[in-house]
Amino acid sequence: MSFVAKFDSGTCPKCRAPIVAGERIETFSVGRINRYEHVLCPKTADVTCSICGGRWVECDCP
Ligand SMILES: [Zn+2]
Ligand SMILES: [Zn+2]
Repeated sequence: MSFVAKFDSGTCPKCRAPIVAGERIETFSVGRINRYEHVLCPKTADVTCSICGGRWVECDCP
């Protein structure tokens, strides 16, 4: 389940950028500990796919 962060929520394990308030995030658990990660990492959201030329996050290229 994703939601908008209400406060700074640590570091995203996918892109290693800090999660700040206002970003859309989701929880996942490591053992019994709940952690947060971006639904769409700000870094990868702007990456252009070198195969199809589209947005990398939206295409199905490997
Ligand atoms: Zn991220
Ligand atoms: Zn592509």
